[in-house]
Amino acid sequence: MTRVDHAVVSGTFSLDGETHQVDNNIWVVGDDRECVVIDAPHDVEAIMDVVGDRTVKAILCTHAHDDHVRVAPALRERVVAPIMLHPDDRPLWELTHTDHLWDLDLADGFELTVGGTQLRVIHTPGHAPGAVCFHAPELGCVFTGDTLFQGGPGATGRSFSDEDLIKESIRARLFALPDDTVVHTGHGDDTTIGAERASGL
Ligand SMILES: [Zn+2]
Repeated sequence: MTRVDHAVVSGTFSLDGETHQVDNNIWVVGDDRECVVIDAPHDVEAIMDVVGDRTVKAILCTHAHDDHVRVAPALRERVVAPIMLHPDDRPLWELTHTDHLWDLDLADGFELTVGGTQLRVIHTPGHAPGAVCFHAPELGCVFTGDTLFQGGPGATGRSFSDEDLIKESIRARLFALPDDTVVHTGHGDDTTIGAERASGL
């Protein structure tokens, strides 16, 4: 039976010379045998507590802000799984990791199967150029990283962000999903596509 497991991990986010304290969600999707990890913030042990003894098939990055990818290379060493990132986030990745790259490029429409369920990549630039969401149609949920939160779009005030683009991504791609799709975000509480569409952009 495929399930979604979750933990909140605390640390910092730095960009444009400012550092903020943040709580990040990590999401683990899979069954009793295998899983994927969505985002790798702050703390390998906290992520491994959720993974347990399962085989990790991939480390999926919603985008390359340091609070989402800081321990991705360390987690890769621990579980021996590829890090997957949309290549448009290379400039952000290189702000955090100068001596490691990711392993596989994500692209819009890319599909991956874990524990018998499908995850489909939706490229949603705006918060970051390579920001992606992972839609799991059979689970009725979408993992949106920092693109869509409970209450609206992610921040676009910093470098490499674009407010018009994030709104277009949400309208054209995320609001095309069914209303009852549960939105698992990069920070804070869940919402639904219907609730966010109703509150407008
Ligand atoms: Zn971010």
